[in-house]
Amino acid sequence: MSVEPITAKATSDFIRTAVREDLASGRFTYVRTRFPPEPNGYLHIGHAKAMAVDFEIAREFGGTCNLRFDDTNPTKEEQEYVDAIIEDVRWLGYQWDRLCFASDYFEQLYEYAVKLIKKGKAYVCDLSPDEIREYRGTLTQPGRESPWRNRSVEENLDLFARMRAGEFPEGSRTLRAKIDMASGNLNMRDPVLYRIIRASHHRTGNRWCIYPMYDFAHGQSDSIEGVTHSLCSLEYEDHRPLYEWFLRELEIFAPRQIEFARLNLSYTVLSKRKLLQLVKEGHVRGWDDPRMPTLRGLRRRGYTPSAIRDFCARIGVAKANSVVDIAMLEHSLRNELNKTAHRVMAVLRPLRVVIENYPAEQTEMLTAINNPEDPSAGERHVPFSRVLYIEQDDFMENPPPKFYRLAPGREVRLRYGYFIKCEGVVKDAAGNVVELRCTYDPATRGGSAPDGRKVKATIHWVSAAHALPIEARLYDHLFTRPDPDDVEEGESFLSYLNPKSLEVVQGFAEPSVAGSPVGKHYQFERLGYFVVDPDSTPERLVFNRAVGLKDAWAKAAGQG
Ligand code: ATP
Ligand code: MG
Repeated sequence: MSVEPITAKATSDFIRTAVREDLASGRFTYVRTRFPPEPNGYLHIGHAKAMAVDFEIAREFGGTCNLRFDDTNPTKEEQEYVDAIIEDVRWLGYQWDRLCFASDYFEQLYEYAVKLIKKGKAYVCDLSPDEIREYRGTLTQPGRESPWRNRSVEENLDLFARMRAGEFPEGSRTLRAKIDMASGNLNMRDPVLYRIIRASHHRTGNRWCIYPMYDFAHGQSDSIEGVTHSLCSLEYEDHRPLYEWFLRELEIFAPRQIEFARLNLSYTVLSKRKLLQLVKEGHVRGWDDPRMPTLRGLRRRGYTPSAIRDFCARIGVAKANSVVDIAMLEHSLRNELNKTAHRVMAVLRPLRVVIENYPAEQTEMLTAINNPEDPSAGERHVPFSRVLYIEQDDFMENPPPKFYRLAPGREVRLRYGYFIKCEGVVKDAAGNVVELRCTYDPATRGGSAPDGRKVKATIHWVSAAHALPIEARLYDHLFTRPDPDDVEEGESFLSYLNPKSLEVVQGFAEPSVAGSPVGKHYQFERLGYFVVDPDSTPERLVFNRAVGLKDAWAKAAGQG
């Protein structure tokens, strides 16, 4: 799969500078990175950023990038997630060199652990998980040494082999590194390397009942694969001394770990645990709900791989965590769809309009431009007839001063069509306007009057007899707060769910959209960019509004 060129030029950053230095100094003679998801959930936009860093940097330096599953915790991981992650990485347009699994290294990792025991650098500890936590101390207090810390090498080798053989109950023993219980870095206070877990693993089945901790598996997996630059998010910074300690003590190839800021996006959450909660508790319709920041949600919402990659290139990499305005993500999509999406007319909240002086049996085809940004997109013909639908909010019976659209006695332009004038209204028993009685001026075909008179507004419309019924799903932010993770005492991020994040309306579209495949994009003129949803049926297309037309980001950035 090829990667399209990104529109925003990737600038040089501290990671690229470091990689360049490592090649110049001869520390490494090639570049290899890896993208290491844990298969315990679906990928989200934060992972897209990590992929952009891992895959793009490898490509820029003529190197390779592995897709590696960090599958060391069988209690949380599933094959379903492995399959979905593979699909999503491909969809985003990235091609890995090798597909790897940390679980493929279980035997090698076990050998590494034995080596540490033999060097007197690891021991079997009989403290319970709670006791280990208690012995660890705090940021201000040193830890205490485990009473099992000074077991002989022989005893440790014997106990570790018996842990593997399944002789001990879950939680009864661990293998720990012997480092420094007084270290200022808690990760260095005799971290656990292996624990007993009696759970079936999605790849190794019941072959193992001891599983390596993330810290013991990650760096060694990098080393086994010959990864040169292990790029990860900032929370691993405090783990780097441990990462380096293992490689040094094991005397194996040592990759360089470099940390970058996690992506945080306003009005959403980017944690698999929280996203899982949204799905499990039914706050959204699933992992691919168009309001979700998962790659599946974004795809269903109408995001394209290239728009997501463009966004990742624009945000770049930094060393300090920050929150990126979600308007910037929307900007990348709008920018792309402006160039590629065909314009069509659709009415989401229909108001019937009868043009009284237009012949009842007549239909004429008006010429419309598919995309003013792309002359090669060509033209189409839109049927016009006596009865039309317009948008309810394009009419006001008693218009305030700055309302220039349709009102009693007022004339407006129909897009690609004629001037029409509102001569009267029809109301229902409750007094609501349900139909407009209008006249049209045949001389204004094409949108201007030969006598030079002007109208102040152009509105969109569809011909009632030709219109296709559609469902439109209109989205707002999933959360009401820019930072839903920043919760008050006693509240959870769920307290800030936006009750109005989805609005469903039934409207009409011009007939040219009939038969559009799932995933096809359009600009509905004046309403935004829409994409055909998988819920569509042959009778009724369902559209998601991917993004509106107003560019809040460009405006804020002074580019609007
Ligand atoms: P989560 O907290 O959502 O579960 P994670 O870090 O546990 O995320 P992993 O599957 O372990 O998820 O992540 C795979 C890679 O993606 C890691 O290198 C991680 O640093 C990176 N990553 C995850 N979330 C983000 C993010 N928001 N921004 C940048 N990189 C991220
Ligand atoms: Mg993780």
